[in-house]
Amino acid sequence: MSAAAMITGECFCGEVKYRIDKDLVDARSCHCSRCRKAFSAQASSYALIKPGSLTWTQGEGELVTFPAEGPIAKKFCKTCASTLCGVIDGEIHGITLGCLNDDAGIEIEAHIFAGSKACWEVLPEGVPIYDTFPPEWVKEPGDT
Ligand SMILES: [Zn+2]
Ligand SMILES: [Zn+2]
Repeated sequence: MSAAAMITGECFCGEVKYRIDKDLVDARSCHCSRCRKAFSAQASSYALIKPGSLTWTQGEGELVTFPAEGPIAKKFCKTCASTLCGVIDGEIHGITLGCLNDDAGIEIEAHIFAGSKACWEVLPEGVPIYDTFPPEWVKEPGDT
């Protein structure tokens, strides 16, 4: 599977745009209670990026980082509130799949923290589902 040579994305209002010049990896959906609130949805859906592979092509100054303090945060557009990426220790870690413009050549390969999913959510079939974090994955600072 070959990913798009150049992947682009943008927020809902279009003020913030980016491009990624390396493949995305480890696409996942996290169903934990924190992701539900942070993404206003049944889960977060994001993929990891290679360090330094993302360039903000427009509107970086429109981004708000929340929480402002601490090792883990997300960045969202101050106008439309689209969440564009997650940050760990100041470095962009994951990019939200919902804001991609292009086929990035990936599919969600794991549904994680399904053990704490919302009671109203019906999980998809045919994809790996984990109660917490897949044992073979490296643990991330925010994962408990
Ligand atoms: Zn926006
Ligand atoms: Zn989560």
